[in-house]
Amino acid sequence: VIPADFEYLRATSVDHALQLLADHGDEAKLLCGGHSLLPLMKLRLARPSALIDIRTLPELNGIRADGDMLVLGAATRHRQLELDPIVARMAPLLAKAAATIGDPQVRSRGTIGGSIVHADPAADLPATLLALEAVVTVRGPDGRREIPIAEFFLDFWQTAVQPNEVLTEIAITNSQGRPTSFQKFTQRAQDWAIVGVAAIGGDLPRIALVNMALTPVRALAVEKALSGGADIVEAARHADEGTSPSSDLRADAAYRRHLARTLTHRALAEIAA
Ligand SMILES: Cc1cc2nc3c(=O)[nH]c(=O)nc-3n(C[C@H](O)[C@H](O)[C@H](O)COP(=O)(O)OP(=O)(O)OC[C@H]3O[C@@H](n4cnc5c(N)ncnc54)[C@H](O)[C@@H]3O)c2cc1C
Repeated sequence: VIPADFEYLRATSVDHALQLLADHGDEAKLLCGGHSLLPLMKLRLARPSALIDIRTLPELNGIRADGDMLVLGAATRHRQLELDPIVARMAPLLAKAAATIGDPQVRSRGTIGGSIVHADPAADLPATLLALEAVVTVRGPDGRREIPIAEFFLDFWQTAVQPNEVLTEIAITNSQGRPTSFQKFTQRAQDWAIVGVAAIGGDLPRIALVNMALTPVRALAVEKALSGGADIVEAARHADEGTSPSSDLRADAAYRRHLARTLTHRALAEIAA
């Protein structure tokens, strides 16, 4: 499991990273925490000839409150999400989800930007950001654009970020005081989710599911049932509606549907408590 040869390039700014992407075309990949890309390269599922390291760029690092928004640099590591006091105050759901990712080593290297651009359906942060209705900023040759998270995840491992763009920031509306729950069912401690549920309560509860389709999905039928006055037992029964879970060695689709309903019930019970 040794990757094919590649050229290592360290960008000195986002503009420099964009220039390097333009110079190297489809052969280049951005490298941030490396905890998704390098395993793929070792398995030869990805074979970029150039890696452009963006991990330490000041423009991609930093956690700040901007009015009623929490703004996270794309290179913010999972461990920072877990421990940062501003995140704990303004987006406790994100802190809870980040704390469940892999082991301390993974959390110390993996980044929020890398996680959502990689867009693994079993990853925890994509569904969490869907529940939080985040807005993602990317920069490319034509400037800067904002993408609502609901339009970000297109298909398995595919997002709205183009190969010549850099994801720079993620903005989340302050959810201080709203009850939240992150439920994750794993086969072993520190594993990826077989199924996960990110839920935030309040006037308009929002629930999103991990690993119940090729992309993270909102449990819209649950949200609708709750706003129609259903109790949590009834609402949770709708959790797998509109989903298309896969069957694999760890769980078949029927079991994933069962888990989605059970974990959603647990999440709703926690936010109602
Ligand atoms: C052993 C192990 C266990 C894990 N367990 C979990 C888990 O339980 N839950 C979970 O959610 N995840 C888990 N992960 C994945 C981990 O969270 C990854 O770190 C994360 O998914 C990718 O972040 P990264 O910074 O390492 O990205 P990289 O590997 O550096 O990059 C991933 C992809 O995103 C692109 N990219 C990165 N940053 C940007 C950017 N700013 N703009 C545009 N493109 C960019 C890269 O080009 C690449 O295509 C695990 C990983 C490992 C190795």
